[in-house]
Amino acid sequence: MYLCYIDESGVPEIGQGTSHFVLVGLSIEAWDWKRQDREVSEIKRKYGLANAEVHTGWMTRRYLEQERIPDFDKLAWNDRRIQVKAARDAHLLKIAATRGPREAQPLRKTYRKSEAYTHLTLSERSAFLKELADLIGGWGNTRLFSESIDKTSFGTTPPLIPPREEAFTHVVNRFERYLVDVGGQHNVGLLAHDHDETSADRLTQLMRQFHASGTMWNRITRIIETPFFVDSRLTVGVQLADLCAYAIRRYCENGETDLFNRIYPRAHRVAGHVVGLRHYVKGRQCSCIICSNH
Ligand SMILES: [Zn+2]
Repeated sequence: MYLCYIDESGVPEIGQGTSHFVLVGLSIEAWDWKRQDREVSEIKRKYGLANAEVHTGWMTRRYLEQERIPDFDKLAWNDRRIQVKAARDAHLLKIAATRGPREAQPLRKTYRKSEAYTHLTLSERSAFLKELADLIGGWGNTRLFSESIDKTSFGTTPPLIPPREEAFTHVVNRFERYLVDVGGQHNVGLLAHDHDETSADRLTQLMRQFHASGTMWNRITRIIETPFFVDSRLTVGVQLADLCAYAIRRYCENGETDLFNRIYPRAHRVAGHVVGLRHYVKGRQCSCIICSNH
C-alpha cells in the first residue's frame, strides 16, 4: 500500500502571483509511515515546532519585527515569542488607531500564519527546513512526482486545461505508472490531498473520470478511490509535500538549489532518467536539471 500526499505551490491563475504553478505528489510506503512520522516529529520537537504546521512559504519569509529587536538571536525562545507578539500587537493597534480597525484585519491574518515560528530566527527556520528536506532526501522508498508549469508560456491566453487540472492529471498518471512498475497484486495507492474548497469537487470529478476511462495515457488500475482531502494543519505528509512543492517552484523560478538539491534524489527515475518530475516550458529551451534529465 502506497500513500501519495499531494500539495501545491504558487497560484494556478495565469498572469497572477508566481510565474510557476507546481503540484507535487510525495509517495511513501504505508508500512514505513510510523518510522517516517517519528523522524519528522523529532526534528520538529528540536526546533520547538512539535504542534505546529510546517508551512514552508511562511517560514522562509523575513519577519521584520524580529530584525528590529536588539540581540534577538540571544534571547530565549519564550522571550522571543513575547517580544515579537508585543511588537506586532503595537503595530496592529497603531494601524487600527490611525486607519481604523478594519484596516488592521489583513495584517492580523498575516501575523497568524507565522505565529508558530516567531521563536526562530530566519536562519534557524531555514536550518529546520533543510534538515527536513535532507530527511526526505534520505528516504530510499519515497518517490516524488511533480508537474511544474511555467505559466508565462501561455502569454495572456489561458490554456484549454487549467494548470491545476493539468498538473493533477500528470501526477496521478506518474504515480499510477510507478505502482504498475512496482508490481504485486496488493500494491495499491491512495491519494491524500490538501483540502481546498475551490478544487476538491473538480479533482474528485476528474479522478472519477480517470477511473472510468483512464488518463490520456493510461488506465487507472492501481490507484484506488478519489483523493482523500485532509487538513494540512493536521497531516504531516501534506506538509512535506508542501515543502517539496515550494523547493521545486523556487528552483524553477529563481534557480534556488538549497532545498531543491536535498529532495531531488527522490524524484522517480526509470533507467537513470527522471520520469517523476517535469518542467513545462512550452517551446522555450530550458537548461534546468529537471529539463536536462527528463
Ligand atoms: Zn526546466
